[in-house]
Amino acid sequence: MRLILLGAPGSGKGTQAALIVKDFGIPHISTGEMFRQHIRQGTPLGLLVRQYIDEGKLVPDDVVVEMVAERLRDKDCESGFLLDGFPRTVPQAQALGRHVEIDAVLNLNIGKELLLYRISGRRVCKSCGDTSHVEWLQGNYGCPCGGEYVQREDDREETVLKRLDVYEEQTKPLIEFYKKGGKLIEIEANRERDDVHLEIKQALSKLKTK
Ligand SMILES: [Zn+2]
Repeated sequence: MRLILLGAPGSGKGTQAALIVKDFGIPHISTGEMFRQHIRQGTPLGLLVRQYIDEGKLVPDDVVVEMVAERLRDKDCESGFLLDGFPRTVPQAQALGRHVEIDAVLNLNIGKELLLYRISGRRVCKSCGDTSHVEWLQGNYGCPCGGEYVQREDDREETVLKRLDVYEEQTKPLIEFYKKGGKLIEIEANRERDDVHLEIKQALSKLKTK
């Protein structure tokens, strides 16, 4: 099963990714994690990526595509993979298509209001890093570790809204691209984790028997 997983920040993408790779016994390929690994190991690619990041530039498509394509040639990708964080643009998707055929693209759909509630209500303990939500904390911002729950700059409502707009704008053409190619599966992610997981499993099992 060769899959791509799309979903806005806060859509539960990480959680569902972990469940899917377990279901199908396929590797979870996150480009963000690959970048960090190359940088940590100081590979030629890592040094190149580092340079772009230090200059505040986006890593060019051909560099990202080459890195992913190389990874997909590894033995553990023979029976499939789950791509997370890639492709981000139509040119990347087209380039990927020249290397490998994708079976399905899962798009986790979640209303903006719920995303905003989840992210802007998030609080993180300054001392131990534990994550909670204003709904569970109920006005008590003391952590059992003795630390204090605070809101991260990134989680402020204005920042979240801006990030969601950017995400939507960037992803819309990509979603159209895969819809036209008949690969897109829309998943209603505005529900409990297990319900979302079940819908994904059902959608993918139909795909297999086709
Ligand atoms: Zn704490």
